[in-house]
Amino acid sequence: MKKQYIIPVFVPHLGCPNDCIFCNQRSISGEQRMITKEDVKVTIEFYLKNIRDKEAKKEVAFFGGSFTGIDEKKQEEFLQVAYEYVKQGKIQSIRISTRPDYINKNVLKRLKKYKVETIELGVQSANDFILKRCNRGHTFEDVRRASKMIRWYGFKLGHQMMVGLPESTRIDEINTARELIKLKPKMVRIYPVLVIKNTKLEKEFLEKKYTPLTVVQAVETCKELVSMFNKKGIEVIRVGLQNTEEITDPNVEGSEVVAGPYHPAFRQLVESGLWYDVILAKIKKLNVKVKKVQVTVNPQDINNVIGHKKENIKKLKEMYSLDLIVKQAEKIKPGKLELTVLEKYPEFLEEHK
Ligand code: SF4
Repeated sequence: MKKQYIIPVFVPHLGCPNDCIFCNQRSISGEQRMITKEDVKVTIEFYLKNIRDKEAKKEVAFFGGSFTGIDEKKQEEFLQVAYEYVKQGKIQSIRISTRPDYINKNVLKRLKKYKVETIELGVQSANDFILKRCNRGHTFEDVRRASKMIRWYGFKLGHQMMVGLPESTRIDEINTARELIKLKPKMVRIYPVLVIKNTKLEKEFLEKKYTPLTVVQAVETCKELVSMFNKKGIEVIRVGLQNTEEITDPNVEGSEVVAGPYHPAFRQLVESGLWYDVILAKIKKLNVKVKKVQVTVNPQDINNVIGHKKENIKKLKEMYSLDLIVKQAEKIKPGKLELTVLEKYPEFLEEHK
């Protein structure tokens, strides 16, 4: 399968008249000024020069802000630049992200004209009360309507949802995932809420009106959501905000994160937590007291099976006095495992014969 590279073009707060309480787009995108079509060209050229794999699929992604809310002339300018590369075969597709209330027939026709392939919608929650509380300025009905139109026009649909918004509970987040599944996205991103500097949420946090999730709480909810999407064949393309110089540990100088479930390997915590649960469930089914097991997985899963800083191996040892040996084999399909018991504890009666 061809490797895929994303060429990210960050469109800061441009065109977004909203002020979601958790958002400071400039911090998140690291971009402090309006971009121009020349910037788009420079970014694309830079990435094309540095991507060595010439056979790889390359996609220009306009992230951040609300792309279809930008001045139409600017949208056309940016898309025109990217589309030239598509025509020359240097990039294969274009993706944009936007708000559900900025989708209509004319918008979609314009995106079609420039061969945009994927449209990602910022959904955040399926609960209108939470959307209002976060100052989103749209309802979940807008998400339904926009999602249906996007699919009807033949685009690939993506959704972005958040975990840990003010007033949101784990049940709300599971319900959001359920509602999104009904709208048949091809892909989703899950973002646990981080408190970012110079946002309304920061003010609420400092006034003790908002308590962010802990890393453990956010990981537990994300595990459930990832497994729901996996079961429906919906690709989870991101869990947690991308680490940048600004989006980093709150204790690091220059970090824009004030508080919240930040972890440099957040997704790995979620994926390895899921593996831990699967391995434990399989061992429990054996109905014997196991001392040492070998788990064989596909090479691409090995790090998640072992866990961040060998967490899964350590946890099984501490909680169940169990040694976990992890092996890799290409013949095992990604996501699958083969479990072999290497040693058992003697049965009580055997021990006391
Ligand atoms: S709609 Fe998007 S860009 Fe605008 S304030 Fe909300 S999160 Fe930020």
